[in-house]
Amino acid sequence: MNTARIAPVSPVSVTTGAVEHSVDFIRPRLLASGHGRVSLYAGVQINGAPHLGTSVMQTSAFLLARTAREKFGVDVTLRFGALDNAACETRRCPRTGTRYERSFRHALGGERIQELIRTYYGGFFAALSAITGVPHEIETYTQQQSRPEFRREFLESLTRMDALRWVLAPSHGKVPMSPPCPRCGWAQKQGEHTEVLTAGPDHAELAAVCLDHGGYVARVRADGASGAEGGDETGGAYEAYIGSGTLHRNLLKERVAAREDALAVVVKGADWAAGCRLLDEAFLCYPQAVLPARLFTPVVLSASGAKLSKSLIRAGRTEATAGSEPWMLDAGAWPGTVEEYARLLLGLVKLMLSEPRHFERGYTTLEVARLIDAAGLRIGAPA
Ligand SMILES: [Zn+2]
Repeated sequence: MNTARIAPVSPVSVTTGAVEHSVDFIRPRLLASGHGRVSLYAGVQINGAPHLGTSVMQTSAFLLARTAREKFGVDVTLRFGALDNAACETRRCPRTGTRYERSFRHALGGERIQELIRTYYGGFFAALSAITGVPHEIETYTQQQSRPEFRREFLESLTRMDALRWVLAPSHGKVPMSPPCPRCGWAQKQGEHTEVLTAGPDHAELAAVCLDHGGYVARVRADGASGAEGGDETGGAYEAYIGSGTLHRNLLKERVAAREDALAVVVKGADWAAGCRLLDEAFLCYPQAVLPARLFTPVVLSASGAKLSKSLIRAGRTEATAGSEPWMLDAGAWPGTVEEYARLLLGLVKLMLSEPRHFERGYTTLEVARLIDAAGLRIGAPA
């Protein structure tokens, strides 16, 4: 077999000569922190079956974790956050046009969320864990936001909002905060009518408006906890489910991760690079800030150069899916077993990780198909 044909062909990257393996990006932080443990954090979308780009990011996380363990001699845990706060239903106020959303968690409930996680990721992650020997955990956003440390970070962010607002929303300084209605679970997407009534290190109150139920007051306490079913209704306020915009929410998650007795490494697709710059600047709004270690993974692109996107796939936007095979857009359409899917992804991502220049770039679905065929990774292909 001609190996030159199998490897991707990638231009020299700016890290050539400095970085021999992409996992080396975390070495300076590991040396500086002195941690003997590493926790890698990655995301899990439950708003539909994963596409190839999501699977590449997640497989990368497993392989990077294994390499970190082998290279640096540290214990490694992989922690996935399931985004059950993603919008499941949307409506608009017929009078003002204000957009309201109800999350998967609020629309479907906790049991159904666990079912979705099992359906989309259970077999795939079990296979990746078994093959790489890297243990993994999955926690939903609902569980994360109910923890005291998350609520403390939310409260602290409110007290720093004068500085944070221009980093998290540079164009207008409006950070959307939308605690869902305690009666129906709907929330304003942009939080246009949310008002912070009081904010302190232990306690805050936010006034918000529901399309059906009018105004309500949501309370956040450092020691409070809230699932998706609202909370106690004492004093006219309920313990809020923390709803906020993407950047703000990620800042809180990363601040919580940094509290762990392990080096926190955030693994995201390279399409997050611009947003992560803002997150890093947001970290600098805190005293003694230590920025999280980050690893960016290759993005999978359609022939048009747009990254595969679940919302565009669902909307049937052909320019965003052109040149893709059905299973690349929907892992549920994979014709083989889930173990075969995991082995295909591991083979593919190993090629991408073989040199940093192959990891610091994007891949069209056509190029992925070429690599799969060249490396003999397709199921049914001769070994
Ligand atoms: Zn309501």
